Amino acid sequence: MASVTFRNLDKVYTDQQTKKEVHAVKNLNLEIRDGEFLVLVGPSGCGKSTALRMLAGLEEITGGEILIGDRVVNDIAPRDRNIAMVFQNYALYPHMSVYDNMAFGLRLRMLPGFLQQLSNPGKTAEIKSEIDGRIQTAAKRLDITHLLDRKPKALSGGQRQRVALGRAIVRDPQVFLMDEPLSNLDAKLRVQTRAELIKLHRDLKATTIYVTHDQVEAMTMGQRIAVMKDGVLQQCDTPLKLYHSPANMFVAGFLGTPSMNFVMEAQVVRNGARPTIDTGEFKLSLPEERAAKLNDYVGRQVVLGIRPQDIHDKALAPSALAGETPVRMTVDVIEPMGAVSTLFLNAGRQTFVAEIEADTTAKEGAPIDVIIDPTNAHIFDKETEQAVF
Ligand code: ADP
Ligand code: MG
Repeated sequence: MASVTFRNLDKVYTDQQTKKEVHAVKNLNLEIRDGEFLVLVGPSGCGKSTALRMLAGLEEITGGEILIGDRVVNDIAPRDRNIAMVFQNYALYPHMSVYDNMAFGLRLRMLPGFLQQLSNPGKTAEIKSEIDGRIQTAAKRLDITHLLDRKPKALSGGQRQRVALGRAIVRDPQVFLMDEPLSNLDAKLRVQTRAELIKLHRDLKATTIYVTHDQVEAMTMGQRIAVMKDGVLQQCDTPLKLYHSPANMFVAGFLGTPSMNFVMEAQVVRNGARPTIDTGEFKLSLPEERAAKLNDYVGRQVVLGIRPQDIHDKALAPSALAGETPVRMTVDVIEPMGAVSTLFLNAGRQTFVAEIEADTTAKEGAPIDVIIDPTNAHIFDKETEQAVF
């Protein structure tokens, strides 16, 4: 196993037809620790696959360095990087059995051994039995032993996904790369496989970089999450750190469901000595140490961010919030989810999404008094979109 380091990594594609340049990865600096499960997440087209493919050696590097452990691998052939990759479309060989699909890479890898040892049947048998041992162990771990003789076309999507995973595991690589490996599975299987992959990582303890556009996968699977947008790394941290302290509006809006509410034209005003937020529809006074960070913004506009989970029905609000001033809003739509309901609220010109306990007595079309938890409010600089807190 090994760490992975991206150092000032750049990738520029030149479109063959238009000759236009696409700057797919921009000055990426990121270290994935030995044994870590890191999720690389961002919208489609932000450069995730490109970063992964450069690490695997499938794509030329335009600038910067990639290290596996402390070895620069820029000029090392893909097969010598000791990396296994699981693709979204699994890329199984259709004419080969599951067993042969899993054995193929290993046989290639050990081929020099085969050739040298052709005159030595004992050695050949030894290699064969080593390969067989690895396949049987992986198959057992993934519960696909009964499928080893089948061809890929006789497998379900979930089974194919396991075979692709098995093929990666048998190689016992230093680093696992997974590029949206669950996106072809149905929702239920995706949730189940998600948990299995986490368990597998716990057993194998192998450095893993997992690419997805799905923020729920990122939040549930990543020990750390690296968020990318337009080829640029936005922030890399643990899921809860990203959720509670997003560095900018993009990260704040991308992680968490439903998405964070933004009031784009909130004014910082003075209420006595202490800065307060005035949205034009209601005022929100912030705890002292937070308000102090807004002294430079008094008289200016900022963006206020509030997570749906931080808007409470006054009648059900935690006692710690009892002293806060309620805000009257109107309930537009209620979506019951079971334990909680998603409420679409409006406060004059502003609309909010709130996640509220299902035993709320809120009614569509009726007013509701809500309490916004001021300790979890986020403020962003309007020009830079960076978080003040
Ligand atoms: P993601 O995996 O995050 O969806 P990609 O890494 O596949 O994004 O793509 C990043 C950007 O690079 C996109 O704008 C994409 O269109 C462009 N791109 C990817 N591969 C090529 C290629 N072979 N030639 C030209 N542009 C490419
Ligand atoms: Mg991709």
